[in-house]
Amino acid sequence: MRVLISGASFAGLATAFWMTRLGYRVTMVELTSGLRRGGTPVDIMGETIDILTRMDLLYAVMAKTLAPRGFAFKDEDDTTLGGFPADAGEQDPAQARYEIHRDDLLDILFAAVDGTVDLRFGRSIRQLSESPAEVTVTFDDGVEETYALVLGCDGNRSNTRALAFDDAETASYFMGGYFYLRVVPETGLLPGDTSQLFSVPGKSAMLNGYHDRTDICLAFRAGRPIDYDFRDKAAQRRLIHQQFDGLGWKVPAMLAHVDAEGDFYFDQANQIRMQRWSKGRIALVGDAGYCVSPLAGMGGSMALIGAAHLADALARHPGDHSAAFDAYEAGLRPFVEQVQQRAATTGMSMLFPADEAELAERNRQLREGTIAL
Ligand SMILES: Cc1cc2nc3c(=O)[nH]c(=O)nc-3n(C[C@H](O)[C@H](O)[C@H](O)COP(=O)(O)OP(=O)(O)OC[C@H]3O[C@@H](n4cnc5c(N)ncnc54)[C@H](O)[C@@H]3O)c2cc1C
Repeated sequence: MRVLISGASFAGLATAFWMTRLGYRVTMVELTSGLRRGGTPVDIMGETIDILTRMDLLYAVMAKTLAPRGFAFKDEDDTTLGGFPADAGEQDPAQARYEIHRDDLLDILFAAVDGTVDLRFGRSIRQLSESPAEVTVTFDDGVEETYALVLGCDGNRSNTRALAFDDAETASYFMGGYFYLRVVPETGLLPGDTSQLFSVPGKSAMLNGYHDRTDICLAFRAGRPIDYDFRDKAAQRRLIHQQFDGLGWKVPAMLAHVDAEGDFYFDQANQIRMQRWSKGRIALVGDAGYCVSPLAGMGGSMALIGAAHLADALARHPGDHSAAFDAYEAGLRPFVEQVQQRAATTGMSMLFPADEAELAERNRQLREGTIAL
């Protein structure tokens, strides 16, 4: 049985791993010319630890684990309002949590499938056409091939979703804000192994410190999507300045990094909410089907969890992809919806308070030590 996977990031590589184990012949297409690198570290906890153990990859992950990180909420004078110490939950194995650089996890997953799958970089699907027995795929170079299953693991702006699902255009849920991210060499703006967050109504500035780099994150609220050219980096820098000029704390130093030459990420905070994650012989895994947003802090974990749930469902329903896709969705959807709901409500209001009232409530919870993210 041949399966095609679109996208070679966490969802795609993990799905390829499991599908190979189930005996499928796996072909992968990845739009970019190599693995897409960059971004902030990935949290590994809960079910993801069990899954990595089952994949025999937990020790590889632990070898690259970052030091535990403290999280401090700051006011304008850099006074700590509250937060979480670096060692919270360390004693309790159920609370174990590892953090690993995104690129390190990509390399570990890639090494686990390298040589066992036909991975084609710089390729994409142009067209999908399904019959009861197979899916005929036309690639962007015009080549046509048939597969028993097609699995869309191509992220938040999934090509597979756009090609195969009727509700693709309405699937993206705007969470009411935008965020900027840039990873730069260590800045000295904060101690290593800490995160710091400063908020005023509608705006948050966050720094993540590591021994060799600093994440510069700026987020602002917007009532509706903003019309801007996503290729125009200068316009995006101007948008950030409009929002953050004149703010205190470490924001002026952060804005100096916004102005400096170099790549950055700017996008709206969104989630993917689909009516169904599968259609016929085509299914979605990870951000493509159910992006939970960076606010949830578990996009990477959710991709690994999704891949494992799909594989388990296929193993339980051999030869019946319909039943397997139903079981995959029935088993995972309640958890996804819970995570999405929490990110869109508590996550937004605690990390990214919209107004004075939300900020005051968050600060009350910080003072009383009751805050939970
Ligand atoms: C470069 C990068 C940086 C990121 N940084 C952060 C971050 O800092 N914080 C955070 O919370 N989340 C970040 N994310 C998102 C995070 O990786 C995902 O939430 C999570 O890993 C889910 O994984 P995924 O495999 O479902 O999707 P993704 O990691 O988004 O991977 C999707 C893959 O599909 C590929 N692809 C896209 N279109 C096509 C196509 N037409 N054909 C073939 N392949 C295609 C992409 O190139 C990519 O490799 C980042 C993603 C990327 C790609």
